[in-house]
Amino acid sequence: MQISEIPLPEHLKQQYLAKGMQVLYPPQAECVERGMFEGRNLLVAIPTASGKTLIAEMAMHSHIARKGKCLYIVPLKALASEKYEEFSNKGVRVGIATGDFDRRDDMLGNNDIIVATSEKVDSLLRNNARWIAEITLLVIDEVHLIDSSHRGPVVEMVIAKMRYRNPAMQVIGLSATIGNPKVLAGWLDAELVTSTWRPVDLRQGVFCNDRIHFREGERRVKVVSKNFDDINLCLDTIAEGGQCLVFVSSRRNAEAFAKRAAGAIKSEDPGLKEPAKELERTAETEMGKTLAACVARGAAFHHAGLSRPERAVVEEGFRKGLIKCISSTPTLAAGLNLPARRVIIRDYLRFAAGEGMQPIPASEYHQMAGRAGRPRLDPYGEAVLIAKDEGQVEELFEYYIDAPAEEVHSKIAEPNALYTHVLSLIASGFAGTRNELLSFMDRSFYVHEHRQGRLMQRAVDTALKFLVDNDMILEVGEHLGSSEFGTLVSRLYIDPRSAAMIVSTLHKESDYSDLGLLHLICSTPDMPRLYVRNTDRAALDRMMDEHDGEIWLEMPGEEEEQEEYYRALKTAMLLSDWADEMPDARICERYSVGPGDVYGMVESVNWLLHASGELSRMFALTFHPRIREYETCMKNGIRRELLPLVKLRGIGRVRARRLFNNGITSPEAVLGAGIETVTKLIGRGIAEQVFAQLEKRVRATPLPEGEDNMAGQSTLSRFR
Ligand code: ADP
Repeated sequence: MQISEIPLPEHLKQQYLAKGMQVLYPPQAECVERGMFEGRNLLVAIPTASGKTLIAEMAMHSHIARKGKCLYIVPLKALASEKYEEFSNKGVRVGIATGDFDRRDDMLGNNDIIVATSEKVDSLLRNNARWIAEITLLVIDEVHLIDSSHRGPVVEMVIAKMRYRNPAMQVIGLSATIGNPKVLAGWLDAELVTSTWRPVDLRQGVFCNDRIHFREGERRVKVVSKNFDDINLCLDTIAEGGQCLVFVSSRRNAEAFAKRAAGAIKSEDPGLKEPAKELERTAETEMGKTLAACVARGAAFHHAGLSRPERAVVEEGFRKGLIKCISSTPTLAAGLNLPARRVIIRDYLRFAAGEGMQPIPASEYHQMAGRAGRPRLDPYGEAVLIAKDEGQVEELFEYYIDAPAEEVHSKIAEPNALYTHVLSLIASGFAGTRNELLSFMDRSFYVHEHRQGRLMQRAVDTALKFLVDNDMILEVGEHLGSSEFGTLVSRLYIDPRSAAMIVSTLHKESDYSDLGLLHLICSTPDMPRLYVRNTDRAALDRMMDEHDGEIWLEMPGEEEEQEEYYRALKTAMLLSDWADEMPDARICERYSVGPGDVYGMVESVNWLLHASGELSRMFALTFHPRIREYETCMKNGIRRELLPLVKLRGIGRVRARRLFNNGITSPEAVLGAGIETVTKLIGRGIAEQVFAQLEKRVRATPLPEGEDNMAGQSTLSRFR
């Protein structure tokens, strides 16, 4: 099917043609034939890289041309920005929403396409964003993640709620190949489009004894490194003009591999100078310096510990073909579109807590393998597993390459999954009695799959009892309603178990402490926690002695719970160091994490600090102002003494500290010091920006009769 023939706005078709896209890929054509432009629901379950995004984009533009509005749901924040950029600059208004869970974001509704994570959409539904009712097309990217224990229940509930609110809305689910697509399509009342078609031929094989075994034959690989098969596999592809992605099990392995690969590739491409210099210039940690050194020779590593700018440099270097090889943890496979001629799946065992090393599921293998082959650039793609010995070759073929796609199943009946959803269904008016709750749940994928919901009913009842016992839900006869507390918890988008823990502890404590609050928050089910090694325990014990009386929660008696207690404590320590202005590099070294991890943890704790502040306000607790202050401290990574300075736009932790240490401790003092002094400390551009802000404030504040307007000091202090 020619792109020029399909019913799309002319300017969009021109953009596609300009990019060299003329013909729809076969699965895309099938979507059109199955009624995509006539509003039919679709489940598109096709391999990675076979053009799912374009399907969604065409459908969205068709809706917008008819004055519709589209919501595109992604599972990860990183994917949200990628899609946002992809959909932008195509003649429609695009918005993105991933954080700030207690806002209605009315302005977002001015867009034609809204890209959001499933958590954000759930929170928008809870906060009654009005424009949700205007959505005519819902796209759910990576809908197979409904099977994930962690994210699946939110995806499932969001789909159910959206369809309940907007019954006429078209739904398009985009999925990797799955074993039971018919069931999922049935739930979505959707036409099913499945295919094994790929834009580039994919050859899958197993490497052993200097040879890659394919089903179709063998390929000999030149031995350059005596000790490292993985390096030989990389150099083999590079010698043919290809690039390589190597998936390994841990960050440490990714870094170690990139160092070896850099030593073997030894690229002298002058184009590498720029990205390497950029990384070197901004490197704050040992890891950053290692990355810069690797990139200088044409190799890189990529994992969640990298900062955003570091990631961007690596990805761009790879897309331009300058970086020849990237070693990565499997996070890269989950979303980012970085295809390479050869994908090497070196480590297929992964550490699972309590279970030791476990093989990764076949679906993960297929997701990584799917990254092989750049359309129009590579004649074919290759995915290669590495076997320990000849005996393992066939085993790897069976377990991964020939394995049927895995089935997806609802996870909402799992313990703990429903507390937050039961509360939100009642608080947002989807259900007002137990029967209404259960009948809403009849719309779930779980009930569609199992035809009955006994397990789920039990999960609903457990959640309901918890919510009633903790005063979030009120029961009058058969009627259920949310209390003020329950409504706030639902709107704040935190787990009701977290809210109950926070509120009961805050009520009990008489002395406020930052560390007590942090440790409490880090102990809630909403907070990701650092792992604790045996060697960490002594330091943590010492820290507990030093801060005796500040930590609110008691050490539990059970061994397993103690582990969690220590993990929360270590996480709290990291965050406390951040708010105490410890430089990033030292934090990373001290806790063996990357800047990306620190950023992620600060973001999570900020959300829970904000929620704690709101809860303490509602219960009129005396700690409320302290919590609010600490929220700002954490957001900026500063001690309390810098609070007045960071209120100025453009002033963050580093500049505020520099001003403070030079005796400039407040906005009044900034004015008093004068622009020249301030420029010396924080640079001309920012200094001018700050003075413009201050002068605007001075002008905006009318003076009482007889007061002298020349003294910035007194003027400013009146409006702060
Ligand atoms: P998926 O989401 O299925 O993993 P993408 O939508 O990211 O795959 O598509 C992979 C690549 O294929 C993108 O670079 C996209 O621009 C390109 N592509 C998609 N459809 C076509 C087409 N009909 N013709 C040419 N290239 C296409």
